[in-house]
Amino acid sequence: MKERDMNRRQFLRQLGLGSASAFSLMAMNPLQAFGARRESSPFGPVPEAPLMTYRKQNGTGENISLLGFGMMRLPREQEQVNELVDYAIAHGVNYFDTAPMYGGGRNEGVTGAALSRHPRDKYYVATKMSNQNQALWDFDKAKEMYENSFRQLRVDYIDYYLLHSIGGGGINNLKGRFIDNGLLDFLLKEREAKRIRHLGFSYHGDVAAFDWLLDHNDEYHWDFVQIQMNYLDWRHAGRGRRRSDADAEYLYNRLEKLGIQVVVMEPIRGGALANVNDEIKAQLQAVRPDDSPATWGFRWVGSHPNILTTLSGMNRMEHLEENVRTFSPLQPCTDAENELLARIADQMAGFPTIGCTTCAYCMPCPYGVDIPGNFAFYNKAVTEKLLPLPNPSDANYGERQDAFIKAYREAIPAEKRATTCTDCGQCLAKCPQQIRIPNQMSRIVELTRKRRK
Ligand code: SF4
Ligand code: SF4
Repeated sequence: MKERDMNRRQFLRQLGLGSASAFSLMAMNPLQAFGARRESSPFGPVPEAPLMTYRKQNGTGENISLLGFGMMRLPREQEQVNELVDYAIAHGVNYFDTAPMYGGGRNEGVTGAALSRHPRDKYYVATKMSNQNQALWDFDKAKEMYENSFRQLRVDYIDYYLLHSIGGGGINNLKGRFIDNGLLDFLLKEREAKRIRHLGFSYHGDVAAFDWLLDHNDEYHWDFVQIQMNYLDWRHAGRGRRRSDADAEYLYNRLEKLGIQVVVMEPIRGGALANVNDEIKAQLQAVRPDDSPATWGFRWVGSHPNILTTLSGMNRMEHLEENVRTFSPLQPCTDAENELLARIADQMAGFPTIGCTTCAYCMPCPYGVDIPGNFAFYNKAVTEKLLPLPNPSDANYGERQDAFIKAYREAIPAEKRATTCTDCGQCLAKCPQQIRIPNQMSRIVELTRKRRK
């Protein structure tokens, strides 16, 4: 459909956010929020015996499932979490990733309760030092967080331990959190004592911090590193809209040269690669009619040999089932498929989306702005080509803007809209994607400002 032919009804239907807060939708799961495919059995039955693809951990030789379970967005009920974890383990998933800061501090405990119902040798658990808040740079407070992880997870050793979200605030921040206070020396000793079996870090943001840690690899001997990697971020990370960017291609290749295995986060970029527009969907379906866009994203990541595991946040059974099918076993992308995805990434890089993965690290906003909800709405409008960008040759611009404003008001309650942003800047340091949040809020405000008659 041509943009100029779009009327309000069609716009609202396509935007499809209804009257619920977009954040409440996105907080559950990006796939679920925008209606990614979830037919019950599009690929036939889930295999009875695990056919999962595994990768060998370089040092210990242990087999890690190429599909890892990102626990950040879990259902509220423990029973539902248990059911997901049981299914995952029964189908060969053995890597579970959590952090003290997830789920308002509940996530490690919920994860520990679910996992501890299984024999300890059936799973590998990853957790992190989430001391991003400066009040936790103090050694004793950080150590308390570390010790609490053992209690919450009900374990006496942690399989994979990460310095959480390195890069925000650059090298100074890194040194304040881990080096100057002696925390990294302590964690290295914990690895020697085998209470930490593998030590690594997760990276977002300023590439100088990533490079600094790898420049010191002779000293630290990183066992693994977690990076954001997907076919869009491979060569288009941030696309100039973040404060500092490094393409996943650079990160992956640097790690591969050093022989450090990679754990991947955001393989479908917070759901953006699962919710591609109809044009892109048609290009993918022409090649593999039965595969969802999400499956393409996972296959692309899993095709890289230096990946240890690919984290997916799965809070609904149908997502877990679909992902288990994708990885049981993984069918690597062919050269032609890789070329197609590179072309699609180039197309998507032209979209003026905001690089929000809806992780909600920035929440709550002290003034009530639903930050990921606003960005999710905006991105959906961009992807579906529904943004009312002023265009003198567009005779229907006024109608399109009215439709955009109406849909926005239906999706985001007044007290959560971009207009309530005061530019206080408190969210800035919390965003792992380095998004200039208040600036982007202004952009949304501008789009929703009523035209003068
Ligand atoms: S800058 Fe805006 S969005 Fe960010 S915390 Fe302040 S009011 Fe909230
Ligand atoms: S703005 Fe940043 S911190 Fe907030 S949800 Fe988006 S990516 Fe996460």
